[in-house]
Order: sequence, then C-alpha cells, then structure tokens
Amino acid sequence: MAVAANPQDLMFKPATEISRLVCAREVSAREVVDAAYAHADACDAQVHAYNQRSDALAYAAADELDKKLAAGDKPGDGLPDSALVGAPVAFKDNMNLQGTRTTCSSRILSNYESAYDCTAVRRLLDAGTLPLGKLNMDEFAFGSSTENSAFGPTHNPWDLARVPGGSSGGSAAAVAAGLAPITLGSDTGGSIRQPGACCGVVALKPTYGRVSRYGCVAFASSLDQIGPFARTVRDAALALQVISGKDRYDATSVEAPVPDYSQALGADLKGLRVAVATDFLELEGLDPEVKADVLDAAERLTRMGAEVGEATLPSTQYGLAAYYIVGPAEASGNLARFDGIRYGLRAQDATDVLDLYMRSRAEGFGPETIRRVMIGTYVLSAGYYDAYYARAQKARTVIKQDFDRVFADYDLILTPTAPTPAFKLGEKTTDPLSMYLSDVFTIPVNLAGNTALHLPTKLSAAGLPLGVQLIGNYFDEANVFRAASALEQDYQFPYQTVPVNVLGA
Ligand code: GLN
Repeated sequence: MAVAANPQDLMFKPATEISRLVCAREVSAREVVDAAYAHADACDAQVHAYNQRSDALAYAAADELDKKLAAGDKPGDGLPDSALVGAPVAFKDNMNLQGTRTTCSSRILSNYESAYDCTAVRRLLDAGTLPLGKLNMDEFAFGSSTENSAFGPTHNPWDLARVPGGSSGGSAAAVAAGLAPITLGSDTGGSIRQPGACCGVVALKPTYGRVSRYGCVAFASSLDQIGPFARTVRDAALALQVISGKDRYDATSVEAPVPDYSQALGADLKGLRVAVATDFLELEGLDPEVKADVLDAAERLTRMGAEVGEATLPSTQYGLAAYYIVGPAEASGNLARFDGIRYGLRAQDATDVLDLYMRSRAEGFGPETIRRVMIGTYVLSAGYYDAYYARAQKARTVIKQDFDRVFADYDLILTPTAPTPAFKLGEKTTDPLSMYLSDVFTIPVNLAGNTALHLPTKLSAAGLPLGVQLIGNYFDEANVFRAASALEQDYQFPYQTVPVNVLGA
C-alpha cells in the first residue's frame, strides 16, 4: 500500500491524523508500526534517538488494536475514548515500561529491566497508543546536549553536526525526525523545552503536580515534571490530557480536575494579556535572531487580538545559581540508591562493602553525574547548608514572587526558550558553565513550579529552528495552548523540510 511504501509520509502526519486513518481502517496499526520502524531503519543510524526499540510491545499492541477494529470496535465503544488510538509514541529512557530496560543512559543501569510501568507511560498506552521504544538522554537527565549519554550522543535532525539539546534530546529529535509524532520527556530545569527549541518541536513542561512522576527515575523531586513533545499543539494538548491528573502513587500529583485542553485550541486571543519579559531580552549572549523572533511573536499576538505589554522578572537572574544548588542537592539524595547492591552494575573484586559502593559508583557514573553528586553533597553538608542550600531555597521563593506579581496583571509571559539555536557537538563539553547557561530562560519556571511551552516559529538564516517560550500561570496550560495554537497557525513551521526526511526517502 502507498503509505507503507513511503513510511516518512505517514510518520510526518500528526498523531491525530494517524489515529484517524487507523480507526477508519485506511491503514492498519501494524502498518503504522512497520512505517515507524522502516523510517527509523532509514535515519536513526545517523540521529541515534533510540536507546532501545520495543518491537515486540509495539506489534502486540498494534495487532490487538487491529483485531478489535476488525471486530467493529471504535474509540469510545470497545476502544479507549481518545483521539490518539493507534498513534505511535516513544519515551525518554528514564521512564519505566515493563518489557524494556530503563537505563537513564547510564552504565550503572544499562541492564536494568523495568519492574513496573511509569504512570504517564501507562496512561498514554491505555489511551490506545503504540509504544515504539525508549529514547536517548543525558545520563540521569544531567545536561543540555545529550552528549552525557553513556551510549553516545543523539544528533540534531536539522544538522547532524549539532546537538539536539538535552536532557530529553532523544525525545525531541525523534519527533523532529518523524520517528514518532508524540514522545514523552522530563523537565527539571528545561530538559523538555530546550531540546524542543534545538530540534524545532512543540514541547511542554506542565505545572508541578499536573502529571504524576511515578515510575520516572527521579533527578530533583521538587522540580521534575513529565511532559509531551509533538509537531502540533493539538497533539501535545491531547497527550497532556491523557497523562494528567491525580495518581495515588505520587502524593505530589494534584486532585485538580483536568480541563478539556482541546477547547483552548483555535480560540481567539481577544482579551488574552501577554507580557514580554524585557529583561530576558537583555541577556548577554542572546542570539539576535532569537531576540528578533520573540519580538516578532509579540507583534503577531497583538495583531491577532491579544493585549501585549511588558514586564520584568528581576529575581530570575538568581535562577541558574539557585538551581545548581537545589538540583544537585536533591539529585545527590536520589542517586544514593545506585550503590551496586540494590540496582544495576556491581563492581567486581571489591574488598569490602565500602569498596563495593565506591567502585560501583565510580565505574557506573559518568563525569557529569559525579560532578552533580559532589556538588549536591557539598551544599548539603553541615557548615555549608545555610550558606548554600537554605539561601537557594529563599531565592526560589523570590523568583516565585516575581511570577506571581506578573501573573496578577497578565495571563502569559513571552520569552526566548534558549539563548541560541542548536550548538555544535563538542562545542560546550569542556565548559560546564557555558552548557548550564542554555537553561537560563527555562530554569526559573521549574523553580517556581508553573508551566511553559516551547513553540517552533521559523528557521534561522542558517536553517536551524527558532521559537519562543510561552510561560503560563499555575495549572493554566489552557491559555498556553490557546496562544500557542494561534501562533502555530500564523507561522506554519516547516516540519517536513527537516533534512532527515529527505535522507529517509
Ligand atoms: N540542563 C539542565 C541540567 O543539566 C536541566 C536538565 C533537566 O531539566 N533534566 O540540569
């Protein structure tokens, strides 16, 4: 059939369109999985988005769905009531899915078999989606380029010499390359939005507590959130709809009802109040094209009826410093469990138990992970706790107050997502501080706990994706989607021109 003969044509359709074709039986779910893996065979040797494909799980889900469709079942009638039935999906490799390994792209977990399912993963599969596999990331989600993976870096589908961003680089690259229309990532300081910016895909960090963190290997438990990547705002909104809501296995997931996000799509912007964060635009090192793009987005929002003003968030300048205390502090605690006894790699020839711990961790962890654990234990140690950790927590409070002040007058804040388009592989690996700067615009949102989305806008003169960050108030993902869907219509980002699409042809 035509679709299977040209896999990338099918794979560049939105998840909702693939779902429609499957449910109308114009293409079988098995053919969707065939197309997804054929496209991966054609281009993932160059991109390296996958750590592991889950062929058996994908085909089992596809065949079961095809059988039900053949028997006359429909979404909402025998099948899940979702517009994603039959859509292929893939997951960052820090989310557990039974039948796959969950490695966090670390040597220490390279053979770890998922013992149970991550709630967000389970909810997406229960909505009828087809699980294609697990995606590369920076080790334990420490990084902004996916170069910290123990299994080698992911390459940016727009330019294979460039990074896909990180830490969810595999999840972003997979969507940009057409390997899957929807993937999940996790965002602790920007790890969904910044790779979304580098790869040119829609990428949402939900409000803290919106999505259960159960089954996602913890980095910094007070900052981590799981969220979707997609090539359309609608797909991202539908994915969020499915994965959101209270989970009894995560006490920090909130009871609050999940709105119907699709209602926000295509709604007009009359009365929507948007603040341009002017101080974010003054950052030294901000690429002029990125800055111009934010100002252009502000004009478009005004033209479409939004009330656009200006605001400043002065305390967010402390975000990076506070984050590199709070994040490592929590990480050092969360990673204590990887000791060579309870999980994963165990060093050989240890002389005693302490030697076993030390050798297993030294052999199992990469350099950035070791750096984070050392910073974390240092800032928490007696004598330094008040000087670093307690002060970082205070900075966190004033950053939150900055957002609260702006949200008293505005519904959304418009900013850049990352200071520059995707940088070259190797460009920042020897300079951790310049790597950390990649997240200067995303980190304040994690510290405050609210929501933000990266929306691709257009290509730079060099052909790299540009885009903007739309920051929303607590649990106001609906307004974020509302503005994003209007801008999406206005910009028409050229997803299909990604070079790997041609490469895979
Ligand atoms: N790049 C940031 C870091 O290295 C954020 C990572 C994340 O959000 N997981 O910590």
